[in-house]
This record gives sequence, structure tokens and C-alpha cells, in this order.
Amino acid sequence: MKILILPGDGIGPEITRVTRTALEGLDAKFGLGLEITEMDIGLAAFERVGHPTPDAVMDAVHSTPFTILGPVSTMEYPDEAKALPSPSMAIRAGLDLYANIRPSRTRKGVPSVAREMDLVIVRENTEGFYAARTMHQGKGEFMPAPNIAMSMRKISVEGSRRIARAAFELARTRRKKVTAVHKANVFRMTCGLFLSEVRDVANDYPDVEFDDVIVDAMAARLIRHPETFDVVVTTNMFGDILSDEAAELSGGLGLDGSVNASDTHAVAQAAHGSAPDIAGQDKANPTAHLISAQMLVKWHADKSGDNQLANAAQHLEAALDRVLADPTNHTVDLGGNVGTQAFGEALAKAIAG
Ligand code: NAD
Repeated sequence: MKILILPGDGIGPEITRVTRTALEGLDAKFGLGLEITEMDIGLAAFERVGHPTPDAVMDAVHSTPFTILGPVSTMEYPDEAKALPSPSMAIRAGLDLYANIRPSRTRKGVPSVAREMDLVIVRENTEGFYAARTMHQGKGEFMPAPNIAMSMRKISVEGSRRIARAAFELARTRRKKVTAVHKANVFRMTCGLFLSEVRDVANDYPDVEFDDVIVDAMAARLIRHPETFDVVVTTNMFGDILSDEAAELSGGLGLDGSVNASDTHAVAQAAHGSAPDIAGQDKANPTAHLISAQMLVKWHADKSGDNQLANAAQHLEAALDRVLADPTNHTVDLGGNVGTQAFGEALAKAIAG
């Protein structure tokens, strides 16, 4: 099975190294027949070929069903690179990866703000306020005068229905509850359309409990009662913000993985950014990147019915839980003093053991 790894910027290369070793460990144990290729994206690619997302990378992403994407430092790019499509944007839009699935849960032995939580935020990934990736032509953000900036938000019937279906299907494999998050009291047309379509899709899933919450109340309820949520479905920017809040509640940004998925493709990418403040210092927690890869293996196992892939995904999750349960393995963000590389070595042992 071919795997494409795109390390990205900042802490990307450090956490990718750990993920690659873990996948090689799974390959040795389960005979997955992995063929791993790495390609430059982000600043490394921009410096070499003048584009953060070279055509060769897009070709490889299209032809490799199994892609693991590192974080990219879009805020730190030089202006010429900022003007070009970023790897995250190009890959999500290019493959129409409409569902960004972001689980957050508390784990044994990991210090967390939440006492207990186990939820998944299902974030619409192709519409909303994200200026560079939501329009057919042109951008959703513009300046009609030097002192005025405007941003357009796109919400469509089909975009809302397909993300709703993804959420309800996921809920059927979990605790069978979906909560839609919106601001339909103010954005009556955009959030109103989203909410009415999600409500309509809910009628097709009578076995799944459904409710909805206004986004500001959600930000508060998530802190007070995170254990009451199972699957949360929401629009692009609300999902981006709430998933960082959920990650912090579960122990920190370094813990939560994600996949970007369509009905036919999925790309793993941790929910966090490139963390330039700790890049190159062996301080990054690779868990979120590892969970993202684990989710991708599971996504393929579910699609193909391949038992070995399912076993490998389960084994990686259990090995990670065992390593994280021991505070002597904790990285700096979790209050420990273990480096990225040493965490990877502990995980490699747990995978082999
Ligand atoms: P960030 O997620 O990179 O970092 C926020 C804080 O969390 C920092 O203090 C960082 O050190 C910490 N952190 C993040 N991941 C960590 C990990 N694995 N282990 C330990 N600590 C971790 O967000 P930011 O600082 O707002 O953005 C930095 C850069 O990342 C910007 O250029 C931004 O555009 C980019 N970004 C990229 C993505 C992506 O590629 N998917 C997502 C968000 C931000």
C-alpha cells in the first residue's frame, strides 16, 4: 500500500518522523506492505521550486489514496508564497475533502481541563468564511476601498446536507447523538439554511438523537459539560474554533488528530498548526499527528473491509493510550520533560511489544 507523507513546516518534520516510524512498526507487525514516499511542501518546496504546493505533489496526492499532511506555516510565509494556494487549501479544495473530522477525548493518565469527554466535531471544510478556498473563481475576501475590508460566507444546500449526513452516519457508530452548532438567530440566511438542511437530514436518522445549540452558548457549554456531546456538526469557522477549544479541554492542542475526507478520499492532518515557537527544539507532542494517521488507517479499513488495516489502527490507538497513560512519557505540553524523539521511541516499543 502506497503512503505519501508531506512533512510541512515548523514542527512538521519532527512529528512526521515519529509517525513514519510508527507506521513502519505497524507494517512489521501486520504485514501491510507499505511503500512510503515523502515530498516537500510549504517553505521547503517554495524555496526549491517557487510554489508551496508543487504540481508534482498535487499529482501524487490525487494518485495516492493514503496521504499524511504535516502542518504549514501560512502566517509566516513571504508575501510571494502567501499569494499562492497553501498546501492545506490546495489539497482540501482539490480533492473536495468536505468533512473535517476532529475527535477529542480525555485519556487515562493525561492531565485535562475536562473531567470526562469523548466527542467528535464534524466541521464543514469547503464553504463558510474561508476566503481562499470557497469560491469557484476569485476570493471571498476583498477590499472595495483602502479603509474597508469585506469577507463573504458561502453556505449551500448540498454542502450542508453532505456534512450533516457524514455526522449522522458517524453518530450511528458511536453514542447516536448529533448536535448542530450555528448562529441562525443572527445569520438568518446562511446559518438558517445550514440548520434547516441539517434538521431535514435528521429526519432520515430517527434512531439518532438530534438537538442544536447557538455557537456562543456552545463555547460555554463545551467547557461546563463537554461529556454531554457526542457528534457536533457545524460550519467551517465555528468548527475550526470549537475544535481547538475541545482539544485544550482534552489536554492540549498536541493531542487531537483529524482527517479531511470526501466519500472517496481522505487526508490525515493534525488539527494544530506548525507551532513555530517550538519548532526544531524536540518539544512537540506528536500524538495529534499520530492519531490523524491512525484515523486514516481506520478510514481505509472501514471503506475496504480490510481486517489487517482495522487491526493495525486499533493496535496503534491502544499503544498510544498505553504510552500516554504513563506520565514519565509526557512531552513538555503535558507537563513532562520527554522529547519528541524519545516519545517516538517509547511508542515504537509499545507497537512492537
Ligand atoms: P499552532 O497550533 O501552531 O500553535 C498554538 C500553540 O500550541 C503554540 O504555543 C504551539 O507551541 C502549541 N502547539 C501546537 N501544536 C503542538 C504540538 N504538537 N505539541 C506541543 N505544542 C503544540 O497555532 P498558531 O501559533 O496560531 O499558528 C502557527 C502557524 O501554523 C501559522 O503560520 C498558522 O497559519 C499555521 N496553522 C496551520 C495549520 C495547518 O497547517 N493545518 C492550522 C493552524 C495554524
